[in-house]
Formats: sequence, structure tokens, C-alpha cells
Amino acid sequence: MTSSARPFLNRRLAEFGTTIFAEMSALAVATGAINLGQGFPDTDGPEEVREAAVRALRDGRGNQYPPGPGVPELRTAIAGHQLRHYGLSYDPDTEVLVTAGATEAIAASLLALLEPGDEVVALEPYYDSYAASIAMAGGTRVPVTLRPHDGGFRLDLDELRAAVTGRTRLLLVNTPHNPTGTVLTRAELAAIAELAVERDLLVVTDEVYEHLVFDGAEHVPLATFPGMRERTVTIGSAGKTFSFTGWKVGWVTAAPELVRAVRSVKQFLTYVSSGPFQYAVAEALALPDSYFEDFRRSMLARRDILAAGLAEAGFEVFRPAGTYFVTTDIRPLGEKDGFAFCRALPERAGVVAVPNAVFYDDREAGAPFVRFAFCKREEVLREAAQRLRAM
Ligand SMILES: *Cc1c(COP(=O)(O)O)cnc(C)c1O
Repeated sequence: MTSSARPFLNRRLAEFGTTIFAEMSALAVATGAINLGQGFPDTDGPEEVREAAVRALRDGRGNQYPPGPGVPELRTAIAGHQLRHYGLSYDPDTEVLVTAGATEAIAASLLALLEPGDEVVALEPYYDSYAASIAMAGGTRVPVTLRPHDGGFRLDLDELRAAVTGRTRLLLVNTPHNPTGTVLTRAELAAIAELAVERDLLVVTDEVYEHLVFDGAEHVPLATFPGMRERTVTIGSAGKTFSFTGWKVGWVTAAPELVRAVRSVKQFLTYVSSGPFQYAVAEALALPDSYFEDFRRSMLARRDILAAGLAEAGFEVFRPAGTYFVTTDIRPLGEKDGFAFCRALPERAGVVAVPNAVFYDDREAGAPFVRFAFCKREEVLREAAQRLRAM
């Protein structure tokens, strides 16, 4: 503490001092529990992509500052990916920006597009960096809560419309949605798009789980809806799609004026990042459809192992239509406080999970929900399921 007794962390960010993930990961280490808390895979992505990174590094590609917007090979590959999967056409030179993961893309977008006092309507529960990035930008977050309904968490479109005021600058959307596993339907997305056009709002859409959709659910980018391409900043990442979360290669696709604004901020956050990895991700994006299909299928099998284990252990399971997380309700176990439950779970069952309440402003609304990650090897998930059943 300084002599003035003023806290070091500023007021805007005071509430974000510590995260539950550090505490839970420390608990996992201390107890030897299986860590299904944080969402990172326990096996690396495709060998040929790893080799592409080694090759780039050996060949001296990307070992020095890459170009500010990202290497041309990667920007071309990102544009190619949007066209191939969604029919969206972006100019690699003016409409694509490479970032240090989706995290930087989110922060740079909000810092670029918000004035202090602007309201941001976001789906609650939200990925933890959203609240912090909105706060850093001096914005005000306005949650619209996804509520349990029919075995999943659903968006109430009337609540969404009611959340938009004269001060709303942008909608921050995430589909497939972490932590609930909700995939917004085409009808829901069409309604969001109509609202954005009618109220002249910008939209930032986090689509990092775009390739992880199950049971016939379909990922439809918001930018494909009428009137949306020019007002939407779409965010993707290699971390989740190719199982290289440590590489931190993400991207933004948007109209030139929006990309220019986000790039203005990005240049002073990291300037550039991940040089050799950018070349490798360019190759990854060009992998055949079979890669994406196999990836999806392998995660689906893992989802089913963990979901079945959780159900047998007595949790109410919200079967996710996307992402690699499953949200559960602990009330059937006679519990109601996810924080207390997750703090005790490593000792009780040898498994680590995360209380969804950390993703809510309204902690009460999130209290009984707990999230488990299933991006782990099948034998690890089977062991976790076994331990939970024995609890
Ligand atoms: C993991 C995750 C991110 C961060 O992606 P990085 O590319 O690792 O920065 C962003 N949004 C959501 C919803 C995520 O789950």
C-alpha cells in the first residue's frame, strides 16, 4: 500500500482482481484432482500443423516482427475459411486482422468501439474477459440472462429487446456459447440481426467454437444476416479449433472501417504476436473438411462420456449443443451453492469444476450451476465420471 493508502488496482478493474481459475487449478495440483475446470485440451492439435510451425521457425519465417495486420498467408487463409464455410467474402488486405488470440480481439474491439458510458448488451453468463474488457473501455455492461428451459439455456428475445436503450452502442454475442453450450438458432440470430439494424447497433460476435456444434445444431455467423456484414466484428481463434490454445492466434473479420478501428488499438496492445505460429495456422485453416468433421466427432464422443457420467452421479445435465463445456445443476444433489460445491469437490471426488456464478453479475441466478470441460482424453473423462459416481 502506498502512503496515500490508495489501492494499486484502479477502480475500473477492482472487481477483477483475482479469478476463480487460479484458485481451482491450485486446488487441482494440491489434491491431485482431475482438472475439468479450465478449458484447454490435454492433447495437442494435428501433427502436420505442429510441424508447419517448426518449419516456419527453422526457415526464419515470423521470427522477427510480422506485419501489423498479420502475415499475408494467414490473412488469406482466414478469408478463405470464411468463404469456404459460410460464403462470407472478406478482403484479406483490408477486412482481416490477426490478433493475440480471441482475447485480444475482444479487448481491442471494445476499446476501439466504445466511448465511456456506452452500454454493451451481452449474454449472461459471460466469458470472463468480456466484463473486464468492457470495464477497461469505460463501458457499462447490460446483461441479458440465458435461462434454463427445456434441457438447455435459452435467450429471451423480449428481454434482449428491452435491454437496448438510447445509450446502447453494441451487442456482444457469443455462439456457440461458453459456459452454457447454447448454440443460437437461425431464428434467434435473425431476431438479433433485426434488432441491431433497427437500433443501428454494432455487433461483436465471439465465434471461437464455430466448429464445435453437435446433434444437428448449425453454426450460422451473425455477419451472414441482412444488414449485418457492415456492422459486425466477427472473432475467431485457432486455439479452440485446432487445439493449440498456447499459440494465441486469433482474428477479426469485419468491414474495412471496423478493422481499421480495431487495428488502431491492437497496435498498442501487442503490436504483433505469434510470428511462426501464424504460418502454421494458415496451413491449419486449409485442412480438408475431414479434419473439422473428425474433430467435431471426437469432441461429441467426449461430451457423451462426461454427460452420461454426470447424469449417473445425480447432476442435472444441460446437454450442450456446442463448445466443449457442459453445465450442470447441482440442486438434485441437495446442493445449491456452486462456489462451496466446487471448493469441496477436489477433496470429495478428486475432480475440479468451475462455479458458473463467476460468469454472472447476478450471482444468485448462477449459484446452482457448475461447469465441467470435456476437452480431455476419453480415459481421463471416464476416470472423472467414475470418481463422480462414487461421490
Ligand atoms: C477460450 C475463449 C476465448 C479466448 O480465446 P483465445 O484465442 O485463447 O484468446 C474467447 N472467447 C471464448 C468464449 C472462449 O471460450
